[in-house]
Order: sequence, then C-alpha cells, then structure tokens
Amino acid sequence: MRRNLLEERWQRLPETVVRRLQAEQLRRYLQTVVLPFSAHYRELFREHRLEADSIRTLDDLQKVPFTTKADLQNTPEHPQRARDFIIIPDEKTLARRPATIWRALTRGRERVRKELEAEFRPMFVTFTTGRSAEPTPFVFTRRDLDNLSTVAGRIAEVCTARPEERLLSTLPFAPHLAFWLAHYAGTTAGLMTLSSGGGKVMGTEGNLRLLGTFKPNVLIGMPTFVYHLLQQAVEDGIRCKNLRAIVLAGEKVSEGLREKLRGLAAELGAPNMAVLATYGFTEAKQAWTECPFPHDQPSGGYHIGPDLCVIEVIDPSTGRPLPPGQPGEMVFTPLAARGSVVLRYRTGDYIDGGLRYEPCPHCGRTLPRLVGNISRRSEIKEMALDKIKGTLVDFNELEHVLDDCPQIGSWQVELRKAHDDPLELDELILHVQKLNGTNETDVSRELSRRCVTRLEIGPNRILFHSAEEMRRLQGVGALLKEQKLVDNRPKSKPAAKVDLDPAIAPNANSASGAATNGEAVEETAG
Ligand SMILES: [Zn+2]
Repeated sequence: MRRNLLEERWQRLPETVVRRLQAEQLRRYLQTVVLPFSAHYRELFREHRLEADSIRTLDDLQKVPFTTKADLQNTPEHPQRARDFIIIPDEKTLARRPATIWRALTRGRERVRKELEAEFRPMFVTFTTGRSAEPTPFVFTRRDLDNLSTVAGRIAEVCTARPEERLLSTLPFAPHLAFWLAHYAGTTAGLMTLSSGGGKVMGTEGNLRLLGTFKPNVLIGMPTFVYHLLQQAVEDGIRCKNLRAIVLAGEKVSEGLREKLRGLAAELGAPNMAVLATYGFTEAKQAWTECPFPHDQPSGGYHIGPDLCVIEVIDPSTGRPLPPGQPGEMVFTPLAARGSVVLRYRTGDYIDGGLRYEPCPHCGRTLPRLVGNISRRSEIKEMALDKIKGTLVDFNELEHVLDDCPQIGSWQVELRKAHDDPLELDELILHVQKLNGTNETDVSRELSRRCVTRLEIGPNRILFHSAEEMRRLQGVGALLKEQKLVDNRPKSKPAAKVDLDPAIAPNANSASGAATNGEAVEETAG
C-alpha cells in the first residue's frame, strides 16, 4: 500500500512523491473517515458541493474552506461547538463496509470490535491555552495516542536523542499537548525519562536538585523557566557536564535567547549546547522540531512528518497558498487523526522563511520544513496601547528586542495606566534583570534606543532587578507558566476600554491558573 511507503520512508522521499502520496492519503482519509463521520465537515462539503474525489492533488485542497479558531468557539446557539469536530462513527455505516465485513470474517467479530474501539473511542483530552477566553478541548482516541507517540519518537530521533541518554522534562504538568509530547518523546525513544511537572509542581529547588542528581543529557522545558533554572544552577555552582541538548517548547525561541542559554550551559560545564526549538499546537495534536545545527549557521527549520499532516503556507490577506520559501501564515490539515479533527486550520502563526522541500542542509532529510522565525500573532502580539502616539506595539518584535539585548537577562513587560486612573495614558514599563557588571544608565539608554528604532515607541520606565527579584515577579516556581507580560491597567470604565485581541482580554489565562495581581497574558499554546 502507498500509505506504507510514506510511513516507512517518511524522511527520504522527494517533494513530488511526497505531495502525490499526501494527496492520495488525504482523499482516502476524507472518503473513509472525515466525510462520513464528522458532523461539521459533512455539512461544509455538502454546502460547497465538494466530495472526497474533488481533491486529486494538494493544489485542490484550496477548494476546502478554512477552519478558524472562531469556528471552534462555543456560542449561545452552539454551546458544544467542539463536539461537531469529533469523528463519531455510525455503527451501521461501519458494519456495511466491505473492509469491516472482510476483517470480521477472517479475524472474528470481537477482534474487529476492539479495533474499531481503539480507532474511534475518545479516551484522552488536552486543552488549548491562552489564545481564547474559553479553553477548547481536543480529544484523542487510542489511534491518536499511537500517532502522538510516533511524532514524539520522531522528535527524539530528529534531535538525535539516544536510548542510553537521560531526559528531564520540566514542562508544566497540565492537560496541555507539550507536557504529553515530551513524555512520549522520551518513552517512545526509550530514554530514561523524568517529568518533574515544572516549577509549580516541584519548585525551582526541586528541579535544580534533579539537574544535579539525575544528570540529564537532554533537558526539555519552556524557554523562560529553563533560563531561570540554568541561571540559578550557575549561581549555586551546579555542574551539568552530561547536558548535551536543550529542547524548548511552548514559547517561540529567539536567537538572542539561544545565545544566552548556550552561555549559561557553558558555565555549567556543558559547552557547545544544542538549543533546539519545537513548534506545535493543540489543534494539530502533534509538534515538530529542528535538527541540531552549527551555531554559526541558520536552523534547518521544523521537520514535518508528511504522512501525518499537510502544512500549507498562505497569504493571510488573500488566503491563497504560496510557493515554497515564501513567508506567510501556516495552515494545518491532518492525514490520519481521529477524535477531534480540523481541516485547513488557520493557525494565525506566521513563518518568515516559508515551507521548504529541498534536503535539510544539516541532516539531509527530505522532509517538508518550516524555515525561519515564527510569530504567534494569534495570541497577543499587537497590543493596542491606548493614547501612546496611537502606535500599535508588536509584542513579537518587543520580545525580540529584549531577548536579543545582550546586557540583560530575563525581563517582564508591564502595562499600567498613569496614576492607576483608567482614563489616563497607558504606560509601558520594562522590568529587566541586570547582568553583572552592566551600567544601568547605559543599558537604559541602549534599550530605549532599540525599542524606538524597532517599535517606534519607547518604554516609560525601565526598572532593574536582581535575578531573584525577577524570579519572584515572573512567578517562577509558583505559577504554571511564567509571566512575561502583565497587564495591570484597571479595567472598569468602558470609556477607557482598548480594543484588544481576545487573548489579552480578562481571564485569558483562566486555564492556566496564573495571575497574581492584574491579568497575566499567555503567549502560547502548551
Ligand atoms: Zn535537518
């Protein structure tokens, strides 16, 4: 069967073959799984006079309308919207299928019943985080967990993890994709795996102790937490000579941050650290990683398994798919999922180097790769800062400015109203960690200059803190996810209401249980 070819040789096939096999698999998947058993897509295809056979090549995928985050949100008329996206088989249809009948005759009814259960019965769930006020559930069947284990094993393989190594995952314990992917990455690849549950479960101290005693070769975590962990390990004089790779998940990773992590790792006795980023999201039920690459060269990008999904890069304004290598918004379609299924899902995330098919310059795999920086515009990103010269502040860019500034360590952005008066002007305050030997006046001047040059807006104040004060401000070891952006603007009077992305509206982070004073803002899906 063709599908086996794509599965077995997933990392070695040329572009034309990959695209042809993907189109065939997609058509079969629509025909046998999605259109018969998904309430939402059965109706959508009918409305648009489409059938599985309308999709002959990947270019035909354009005929299928996009699915957006809004489509998944509950409304008063549809209080259980996410349910319409679950594959719920109809027993009669299944029983009439020649393949089912044949299998029942040759293997026995009981075995076929169990196989169908494993394929279709929802038995595991993760939730979206932060991007919307209401977390959306995404359900998995046994088959989906097997697929999750496959992609996780591939992440370990692309990261060159070996069974004799030890993996410490510090991702927060939560019903979020990232935590479970890390678990399956270690266990599928056969590494000795320890999931600490992150700072909130074991405290920074507990995680530090594991660094020293468990002696991991591979460390997985969210960038902010890993940064604090390594920094404190340096302060405490811990040695981590075995550490070889740091795999980051849950937030995007800037070059400046990679550089800072490599520097800290070197101080721990682990020079030449591979700092690898992953990209994934709840709706995909999968994630992808970079392969190790020399520090003086650009990353090969996120390596996509072509047998489990199709990624398109589109022009966000026209919705048209773009040729390879063009920057645009990523759109996701699964090829083997059961449980919750979204087709042509608009991620709202932008990739600036586009999708590439030529062999990876570092590992030689001929997989589709997403190359360059990802901006997760879907989440916050453009904060409309009321009345400050009417300028929109791109949080992605601000994050880069702060991460790339070599004179500071961790940071937090705070939004306030002048005098805490809702009708007053907005204020942008930067809390930054002063690194040893830096001069506050010089750093302030340099940071303001960088902000004005790249964002056309300067901070109202820059406040310097010690590493320990920053850990407290960000809630390291106390919150599920560290706070890098805090909105302390009073939100009472409608007159002062700013038109914000839903992601930074009140209770955006209700799923993560964060927020101390004011609203913390999530930057990412778990
Ligand atoms: Zn590669």
